[in-house]
Amino acid sequence: MRIPIQSVTPTSGQAEIFGWVHEVRDLGGLAFFLIRDRTGIIQVTIPKKKASEAVLSAAKQVSRESVVRVAGVVKAIDKAPGGREIVPDVLEIISVAGSPLPLDVVEKVPADLDTRLDSRFLDARRPRVAAVFQIRSAATHAINRFLHNEGFINITTPKIVAAATEGGTELFPIAYFDKEAFLNQSPQLYKQMMMAAGFEKVYEIGPIFRAEEHNTTKHLNEATSIDIEVSFTDHHGVMQILEDLIVKTYEYVGETCGSQLSNLEISDFAIPEAPFPRLPYDEAIRIAAAKIEDPLKYGDDISPAAERAIGAEMGGHYFIVDWPSEIRPYYAMPYENDPSVCKAFDLMHPRMELSSGAQRVHQHDLLVEQIRKKGLNPESFEFYLRPFRFGMPPHAGWGLGADRLVMTMLGLSNVREAVLFPRDMHRLVP
Ligand code: ATP
Ligand code: MN
Repeated sequence: MRIPIQSVTPTSGQAEIFGWVHEVRDLGGLAFFLIRDRTGIIQVTIPKKKASEAVLSAAKQVSRESVVRVAGVVKAIDKAPGGREIVPDVLEIISVAGSPLPLDVVEKVPADLDTRLDSRFLDARRPRVAAVFQIRSAATHAINRFLHNEGFINITTPKIVAAATEGGTELFPIAYFDKEAFLNQSPQLYKQMMMAAGFEKVYEIGPIFRAEEHNTTKHLNEATSIDIEVSFTDHHGVMQILEDLIVKTYEYVGETCGSQLSNLEISDFAIPEAPFPRLPYDEAIRIAAAKIEDPLKYGDDISPAAERAIGAEMGGHYFIVDWPSEIRPYYAMPYENDPSVCKAFDLMHPRMELSSGAQRVHQHDLLVEQIRKKGLNPESFEFYLRPFRFGMPPHAGWGLGADRLVMTMLGLSNVREAVLFPRDMHRLVP
């Protein structure tokens, strides 16, 4: 019976394993193989004088990264990984790997990211790469569990839509029978409509599509967004949920992903310290202006250089709050006493923005006015505006980039490292 390689111990007696040939070494009288599955690596040692014809012939033919079945006696041995090895009665080649390999799984030859992504199936055989996606899976599990426990309803909204969320040109048009359609850039309008449906707390983890001609290490044209929307609360309420979610997710990864973190050589995995500071936008601008060359004034977007300067000052996760209404979307709620400032926020990691959110405008007429002020036509938002005429509760929410969350959590240098098959301006295959 097959057992995971991790579970083979010096006292296992007999063991049968299936895996990939990680390394081959021939020392004359002895042949050594390292066999790898997703749980670990084990040494297989073949004493040539004692081995059967079948084992010897398979050992001679097998190439690196072929899939094999090995069965035999487990012996304790100090120098091998995990302090044990298998001396095989059976060595069966199940699926041959051609040579040369398009990518070296052993990582002796460094490969650039493009080469790795071209052969992602081989790249992901590397324990340190697999670890990223195992941790991503654990993080997603923690988020699902946290939101479920908080009473959220998990929804799915359409990715094929007729209208832009925020206007603008960042949409991918698609052929949809005889109609004009687009890939959705955000579930924003749909999750808000579910507040009118009385669902109170909804979330979605799904793709967002941005037709932006970016060429950075933190932008993709297809990203994964974790989106929530909550009724009868304000921006403070949903910032608290976001802060709790980040801490809980790190905690879960810290508790359950020890071997993956060590594969990534992360020995100092730190849980972010709550509460995260709430830094008003005007102060953020002042901090950045004092530290960077380019001129920066109230009302400007926070540039990547400014983000890094403020991040260095703050040192950990923090919120930027109280943004000028002018540079936030029409659906952000202006303060009653000063409508030039709105109840919007960004959650920042010292390296970059992770999330944007706000209390939303729930009053129909104010919303129409704000849509107009942004130079958009309310008529193209009729499907979205209708719910606001039939009992829309006050509500707030945010969208959190899953790819950036994993990237910053693991200190990855490029968001593409956190995405199996990234989509950017130059990459559509595989
Ligand atoms: P940025 O200013 O960094 O380009 P944004 O403000 O345009 O991001 P939002 O529309 O606020 O992004 O989306 C919410 C979150 O979704 C972002 O904070 C980010 O984590 C993630 N996100 C948005 N666009 C992308 C993208 N192109 N690639 C990766 N993640 C993204
Ligand atoms: Mn944003």
